[in-house]
Amino acid sequence: MTQTVKIITLKIDDKDISARENETILEVARENGIFIPSLCYQEGLSSVGACRLCLVELKGSNKMLPACVTLVGEGMEVVTDSERLRLHRRMVLEMIFSERNHTCSVCVSNGHCELQTLAQKLGITHIHVPYLYPIFQVDTTHKRFGMDHNRCILCTRCIRVCSEIEGANTLGLMGRGNNTQVIADLNQPWGESETCTGCGKCVNVCPTGALFEKGKSAAEMSKRRQFLPYLTMMREEW
Ligand code: SF4
Ligand code: SF4
Repeated sequence: MTQTVKIITLKIDDKDISARENETILEVARENGIFIPSLCYQEGLSSVGACRLCLVELKGSNKMLPACVTLVGEGMEVVTDSERLRLHRRMVLEMIFSERNHTCSVCVSNGHCELQTLAQKLGITHIHVPYLYPIFQVDTTHKRFGMDHNRCILCTRCIRVCSEIEGANTLGLMGRGNNTQVIADLNQPWGESETCTGCGKCVNVCPTGALFEKGKSAAEMSKRRQFLPYLTMMREEW
């Protein structure tokens, strides 16, 4: 049975836009070249609305809504840029930077990091909250990859790609609050994981230097995530 999808109209930043009713505000905005920041969102994976960077405002409401998990609606008037949203995004980014040791100059992803790029784009030059500077281990037990928890922003993209696309379910989260960590299997060294296929999908979707390929210099550490929308589309068609 062919499913029909209704086309609706809405406004984003006062621009008239048409969209499919099953699309999210973030998807529609990006299709129309409108920038909404995000870090946990990755095209091709499920959306979790975790990082809260993509919050937008709706005219007629006081609430801020995560654009990656909010569906568009007929007649909606979305605001993607306001003083309140800029302040909020800045605060979220500052908290992320303060939580772990994001010292870009000594990071393997320097120059290829989504967190760094976003901070530059949003004009963040310093932060107003104290750095926590916890010390986390770097797991280099895997033959080809490394995991530096100090660079992890807990976006869970690696966990979702490993489960939803690779189907290995190797990665998960352990702990609470600031001590939350990405773990392999039942928190064993990544290199000893019996479920990891070594596909590298997690490394390629990681927005920071938390997951990296061994033997690559900072200049070579650009991530390749174009494969995701393609794989997702092929699965849907199949
Ligand atoms: S390399 Fe592949 S299988 Fe192993 S943890 Fe990463 S995504 Fe999962
Ligand atoms: S390791 Fe990378 S992809 Fe995984 S949660 Fe941390 S920052 Fe996100």
